[in-house]
Order: sequence, then structure tokens, then C-alpha cells
Amino acid sequence: MNALAATTRNFRRASRLLGLDSKLELSLLMPLREIKVECTIPKDDGSLATFVGFRVQHDNSRGPMKGGIRYHPEVVTEEVTALAQLMTWKTGVAALPYGGAKGGIGCSPDELSSTEKERLTRVFTQKIHDLIGTHTDIPAPDMGTNAQTMAWMLDEYSKFHGHSPAVVTGKPIDLGGSLGRDAATGRGVMFATKALLAEYEKSISGTTFVIQGFGNVGSWAAQLIHEKGGKIIALGDVTGSIRNKAGIDIPALMKHKNEGGALKDFHGAEVMDSAELLVHDCDVLVPCALGGVLNKDNAPDVKAKFIIEAANHPTDPEADEILGKKGVIVLPDIYANSGGVIVSYFEWVQNIQGFMWDEEKVNKELEKYMSSAFQHIKAQCKIHNCSLRMGAFTLGVNRVARATLLRGWEA
Ligand code: GLU
Repeated sequence: MNALAATTRNFRRASRLLGLDSKLELSLLMPLREIKVECTIPKDDGSLATFVGFRVQHDNSRGPMKGGIRYHPEVVTEEVTALAQLMTWKTGVAALPYGGAKGGIGCSPDELSSTEKERLTRVFTQKIHDLIGTHTDIPAPDMGTNAQTMAWMLDEYSKFHGHSPAVVTGKPIDLGGSLGRDAATGRGVMFATKALLAEYEKSISGTTFVIQGFGNVGSWAAQLIHEKGGKIIALGDVTGSIRNKAGIDIPALMKHKNEGGALKDFHGAEVMDSAELLVHDCDVLVPCALGGVLNKDNAPDVKAKFIIEAANHPTDPEADEILGKKGVIVLPDIYANSGGVIVSYFEWVQNIQGFMWDEEKVNKELEKYMSSAFQHIKAQCKIHNCSLRMGAFTLGVNRVARATLLRGWEA
């Protein structure tokens, strides 16, 4: 099932549990605005290259729209629309005063030089600058983009509108970024895992983990879970997968990675087949990469007891059903990976106040938001007698529905 169909299906199920009116349902589902722009740049060798850029602004009833910019070959209308919709429910679950949006450029960032990426980012920003803004739509990094990308966006946007640090989040610290933002999604994953395991009288310490994806989210989640005594027995990224029954030494692996080493060349673990990663025996599986990785083909073989969705929509609805029947507890993306957008909100608040928080305050506030959201999700699960996914969806969708109804439609 494609990402948009899957996300829409989850939304409709939540809407039914909430008893929403069908007209309201349609209005909540449909994006406020879909932007598609042509981005042509001269490559370093002088030839021209044309890419398609997107920004889908899904909903702004609770505040300015918020969401990442992704550089990836799979950035196409449907995928971006699904991700924009997920951002609306995600900011709703976290009770942030935001709506949802998502954007990106269909490209292979690894095949572009840094100067090509800079040109592409500037051209894209020129095409959308009048549709984003501190109080309208605030981009952030996502897959294939980082703090440097946000620095270029900020610089280009400021040429049109004057210096506006709060127009993007996930910026470098020197340009008004927040301490703790880089690690925030991974730290949120760790807090979410802690909250879920506590429900089952378990803790991270002594629990075994498998992590799929070792980019920003996966590597921070691994480091923070390892710090709390979790045993990461297998992990993988696009280059390959490794395992070690005794637990992988994550600080040593990070040193290896930071020195430019590939996972498969790390001495402290053995190479394994990447197809085995998601069905590897463990207590907790943490998918931190692309969407749709858990599907009807591999879900029956999953051995983990818990799945923490650090990626966006890693489990398709068919897999969800199979996992539910097997008794696997799935902690949904719109809660599990919300640490990034929560600290983006803190960054935006700091920029607007012109005051910088220390990292301890950022991390403490993040934990507060994550635990509060978890309590609210649990309350929804009780009311609707439903899964954690439907608990999170009903929470997020209901907050957006209430805001929409309060605003009304009178012309
Ligand atoms: N790209 C991240 C997400 O999918 C963060 C978005 C943000 O900080 O606005 O949640």
C-alpha cells in the first residue's frame, strides 16, 4: 500500500472512532496547498540539471505549518502529501501550536557536490520564499538534509525578507540553532522507549535492540539507548548490516563512522544479511530509515516484542494488522519520532524570544513533552479501547478537528 493510502486509512479509522462528520473529515484530509516547482541548476561541470521541488502545506488550524525538507529520489507528490499529513497529527499529539507541512526535492543527494546542493537549495528557496515564513510555514531538516541546508535556506530567504532566524529550525548553533536539536529525534526515541517499556515493568537497561538506519536518528537513538544500558545486538544502514550477540560497542562504532568507516568494516561485529535485520531476534526493533519497510511479507517473521517507529510510516497497514494479531506492541511514528519537531518548536521559541536555553533545559523540556504525550495517548487508548497507533491518531486528529470547528467556515 502506498504511503498516502496508508496514512489516509489510519486517519479515517481514527475519524470513525471519534465519530467525526464526513464533511469535516474531508476538510481535515485535504491539504491546504500543494506547491510543485521546477529547480534548474548548473552542475559543477557546466551542464544543466533540472529537479522537482515540493512543499505540501497540509493544515494550519492550530498554528503555522511545520515540517522537514527531504532530499531523496523517492520524493514525489504522494509521499510528500502523506508525510505532510503525518506532521499535522504529530504536532497535534505533541500539543505544539503548529500545523503540518512537508517538502523536498526528488534527487540523490550523494550524487551532488556540496556546491550543487547549495545551488539547488537556494533555487528551491527562491521558488517558495513567499509561501513560507516564521508565522506561516517553518521548514526543518529531514532525510538527506541537515543544519547546513537550513543555513542556505535561511540566507536565501533573508535576501527577500530580511534576517529571519525563526523561518527555519534545525539551523547551525552559530545561526540561532538550538542546543540539543541535532540529537533531539534520537533522544525523543529513547524517552518514548523508556515510557513504553515502563508500562510493561521493563527498562532500557538489559533489553536487547535492533536498529535499522544509522543516519541522524538511528545513530543518536543507538548512542542514547546504549548510554542507558540497552544492548544493541544488530544494526544496519544502506551500506550493510552488522551484529554482535554480546552487544555492539556503540561509542567505538561512532568513532569508526566519524573516521569515514563503513559499517561492514567495523571490527567489533560480524556482517549479516540486511534482509534479516527486521526479523532478527530481539526485544525491541527500532526502524529509523524509510517508510513501508515492514509489510505483509516480512511482518509474520518479526520476532521483536516491541517496535518503536523512529522512521515515518515504517509499518504499512497490512503489517500493522499482522503484528497486532501476533501481540507485537507498536509505538507509532507520530509519537515515537516527535522529539525532532518538539525541539524545533523550542528553537523557534528561543529565536522569537531572542534568548538561548542551555542544553539541560532543552532535554528536560523534551522529556516533559514526550511523557505528557504518552499519558494522553494512553488515555485515548482507554477511551476507544484501541491500539497505541489509534490512541495517537485520535489524540492528534481530535485536537486538529476541535481547532478547525472553533475557527468555523463562515465567509
Ligand atoms: N523532519 C522531522 C520530522 O519528520 C522534523 C520536522 C521539524 O522539526 O519541523 O518530524
